[in-house]
Amino acid sequence: MKKMDKICRLLTGAIMATTLAAAAAAQQATAGHWAIVVHGGAGVIERSALGPEGTSSYRASLARAEAAGAAVLDRGGSALDAVEATIKILEDDPLFNAGHGAVFTAEGKNEMDSAIMDGSNLKAGSVAGVTTTRHPISLARAVMEKTPYVMMIGPGADAVGAKNGLEQEPPSYFFTEARWQSLVKQLQKEGRPVPPRPAGVPPEGKAVPVAMLDESADSHRFGTVGAVALDRMGNIAAGTSTGGMQGKMPGRVGDSPIIGSGTYASNQSCAVSATGSGEYFIRLGVAREVCNLVQFKNMSLQQAADQVIHKELDTLKGDGGVIAIMPDGQLTWSFNTPGMFRARQVEGGKVQIGIYNDEP
Ligand code: ASP
Repeated sequence: MKKMDKICRLLTGAIMATTLAAAAAAQQATAGHWAIVVHGGAGVIERSALGPEGTSSYRASLARAEAAGAAVLDRGGSALDAVEATIKILEDDPLFNAGHGAVFTAEGKNEMDSAIMDGSNLKAGSVAGVTTTRHPISLARAVMEKTPYVMMIGPGADAVGAKNGLEQEPPSYFFTEARWQSLVKQLQKEGRPVPPRPAGVPPEGKAVPVAMLDESADSHRFGTVGAVALDRMGNIAAGTSTGGMQGKMPGRVGDSPIIGSGTYASNQSCAVSATGSGEYFIRLGVAREVCNLVQFKNMSLQQAADQVIHKELDTLKGDGGVIAIMPDGQLTWSFNTPGMFRARQVEGGKVQIGIYNDEP
């Protein structure tokens, strides 16, 4: 019965998202104007669970992050700078599964993944399993700009951050009570051992932020964050940052830092940031797949994103969504879950924020 419910929910979500796609595609930046799209994860996000207070907290957080990126673009800054500025705000926000607020591994640690890509030159940087750098998105950028590599992992990656003056934090900085309680609940439910409470964190409190993010199986909300942007020079960029999947085995890496899967940008096609069940996104090479359909099959951005999310990902039974943008000003989102935290704006237009799949 529970399974049927879930299938119905997913089906309704897919139908509504497709119906709303036309409205989503209607927003487009005109030549020489900037645009930005932001996400804060996709999953089973329902009004009944978030409540009015939670809903408005998330909207406010999305608005704040979007405004940071928009401000960069509005003063003539690059898409790359806008993406980084937006994601840094979300990494500092405990409501999202990135930076401070990242989910825990089964051993009670935060291991974060992130990537950034510049569509104007195909330069990319990514990090996986980092534990001390406050802003993993800036670390991904440092890998891109300060090393000859594209991808680095673990302590070696964090060392690049320390060497380049990026803020370093103790493990307790990334801890949030809500995420911890959510981990404990999930492990207990699955009959797995619960690790000791991390050292240096405040004593167990009952106060958890509004809309406590219960990442346990039935109500999984993917809280990964990402942004794609188009600047006035016509360049696009993409970035993604995450704590990954709650209760993951230490060492597990998702799609977010995999260039072409969770993150991709090329001025020849599009910029994409994904969120969802990472293993499926890796198998499909989701981000590059969307760009291939645009570049080689002449699809509109909306058609390409819907084809990958509502056909290819659905077929594999993967959950999640993408945000995407093109140098010609097309921008979109597409997701097959009941909700996706999202916001977008084109220069001269209003900010549009959405959470549930019945919103445009
Ligand atoms: N895609 C991320 C991962 O698999 C999780 C997410 O988007 O919430 O690590």
